[in-house]
Amino acid sequence: MRTQVAIIGGGPAGLLLSQLLHKAGVASVVLERRSREYVLSRIRAGVLETGLVNLMHEAGIAERMDREGFIHDGTLIANGNDQFRIDFKELTGSHVMVYGQTEVTRDLYEARDAAGATVMHECSGVKPHDLTTDAPYVTFFHEGAVHRLDCDFIAGCDGFHGPCRQEIPLSVRREFEKVYPFGWLGVLSETPPVDNELIYSNSERGFALCSMRNANLSRYYIQCQLSDTPDDWTDDAFWDELRRRIPEEAADRLVTGPSIEKSIAPLRSFVCEPMQWGRMFLCGDAAHIVPPTGAKGLNTAASDVNYLWRALVAWYKDGERGGIDTYSETALARIWKAERFSWWMTTLLHRLPEQSEFDIRMQDADIAYLQHSTAAQTAMAENYVGLPY
Ligand SMILES: Cc1cc2nc3c(=O)[nH]c(=O)nc-3n(C[C@H](O)[C@H](O)[C@H](O)COP(=O)(O)OP(=O)(O)OC[C@H]3O[C@@H](n4cnc5c(N)ncnc54)[C@H](O)[C@@H]3O)c2cc1C
Repeated sequence: MRTQVAIIGGGPAGLLLSQLLHKAGVASVVLERRSREYVLSRIRAGVLETGLVNLMHEAGIAERMDREGFIHDGTLIANGNDQFRIDFKELTGSHVMVYGQTEVTRDLYEARDAAGATVMHECSGVKPHDLTTDAPYVTFFHEGAVHRLDCDFIAGCDGFHGPCRQEIPLSVRREFEKVYPFGWLGVLSETPPVDNELIYSNSERGFALCSMRNANLSRYYIQCQLSDTPDDWTDDAFWDELRRRIPEEAADRLVTGPSIEKSIAPLRSFVCEPMQWGRMFLCGDAAHIVPPTGAKGLNTAASDVNYLWRALVAWYKDGERGGIDTYSETALARIWKAERFSWWMTTLLHRLPEQSEFDIRMQDADIAYLQHSTAAQTAMAENYVGLPY
């Protein structure tokens, strides 16, 4: 088998790259470890920056998002019962789009199907080879047989646990990591959201986030112990705890119902440098992770895809290799800023096990500064809606 770009991983990064390359006349094959149903059952991100929205338009998959997505011009920040709004539109002229990652992935699959693309599911033992030569290839098992996929380039879009990052020699690879001492317990419920906008809440009992997917589908999170499991939390216990962590007027409006999904995610900041090795390029969670506070996970994957897609198309169409050679440097410059923002929002809004009274006063002062300073609000807003590519 031969293609121009072999894409390992059929999550949003891999599928979006494949679709954008297709639009520019560059062929690719996507190799995914899981089944399509499994990929589509994962409930993850839901806030899209304008950069990703624009890429969806360029990829020709924006029709449903434009129809069903919700534009958010601002967000609410709470500290105990004190609540204020960050007005993205007024401060930056921009906004974010609320549209679930699951829906983005579904739209991408449909577009790839319509184009007759090769997306191979349930591939195991996927391994890239000869990355520092002009003729890299990938081997893998599929439907009981060993396959070889020859290509010009390999895109490692295989998420945090995928094999591609490990192909960068240890003598070259540097990994930077911060693991946070708490997790997020998330609940999805078929109930109307408590507010039209997201509420990020710092309370003395810990962080809470009120989020949504649509007018009758809410996504709520509370900070929890890393040792907790979803079974430790009945729906009633979750709703009671959420009510205690958000401002009273929001708690009074909260509509509860049975959870249709409940999961715990650990929080981590992680960056791998470099993001390329020979003819292999890492994209998305394969190279970096952010804690979900700040909604940057899917969006950073999209910014990598933006740089890589343009670099590959310039190579194929104009023989221009500048974008290829500088991919890692260009992508990392933006990634580190998103890492800083996600770390800052996480530190601002969560209670930490070892936190002293002084640390809590610092958090309160930081939130008060944000509440009363237009400069601080502008800095937050421009990062939240997404720095330019
Ligand atoms: C539980 C959870 C909740 C999250 N919530 C949020 C959120 O609320 N907000 C936010 O902004 N971000 C969130 N994120 C992060 C966001 O979902 C990711 O940043 C985003 O999915 C990155 O896309 P990706 O394509 O790079 O990686 P992934 O979505 O991880 O896709 C990688 C793909 O590669 C496949 N793969 C792995 N190994 C192999 C292999 N050996 N061979 C072939 N394929 C392989 C995987 O099956 C997967 O389909 C969350 C992440 C998780 C895990």
